[in-house]
Amino acid sequence: MKYYVLFGPPGAGKGTQAGSMVERYNLCHLSTGELLRSEIAAGTPLGLQAKSLIEGGNLVPDEVVEGMIESKFQNTKGVNGFLLDGFPRTIAQARALDEMLSKKGEEVTACISLMIPDSLIRERIANRAKIEGRADDARDEVVLNRIDTYHAKTEPLIDYYIEKGKYREIDGVGSIEDVRSRIFAAID
Ligand code: ADP
Repeated sequence: MKYYVLFGPPGAGKGTQAGSMVERYNLCHLSTGELLRSEIAAGTPLGLQAKSLIEGGNLVPDEVVEGMIESKFQNTKGVNGFLLDGFPRTIAQARALDEMLSKKGEEVTACISLMIPDSLIRERIANRAKIEGRADDARDEVVLNRIDTYHAKTEPLIDYYIEKGKYREIDGVGSIEDVRSRIFAAID
């Protein structure tokens, strides 16, 4: 099985690119952000716990997302692998992922990192706010907190995957098609 980590700051285009990646490589797309938003929409206890954290631009606890991912690993059949979008987002989550996979004799195949500058993050999120109406995209201070959280807690994963020889950085600036071709070239 292939296990691709799709990495990048908020607004880098992970969700946009995920669709064509899962189709081309027959992967199951696991977006922790989407999974959490559907828990919120369904009003589950987990959703209630996550809502205020997400809407403040903070991460939800590691155990919460780790549990969601592990149950998807157990219940998904008929794919060549998984595309992890928005997970891991902390070093603790990356270690938990390695442990989950090593129990099955598997490992992360590669970390595909979509890189864009902070200035573009804000521009893209401002555009998305108009289209998708996500609560965490609407307020400037929340977006800034998400960017800070990314730099403090998520960016250290770059070195984590470099040290394992699994890090592939893709320039995320350009048209959707251009970025898609760069990703396909890296994976192929
Ligand atoms: P974006 O990549 O634009 O930040 P996501 O949909 O990936 O959007 O995530 C939205 C929010 O969901 C995050 O800001 C965070 O609060 C929460 N979240 C998503 N994935 C994780 C994770 N792996 N760990 C903790 N919180 C997460």
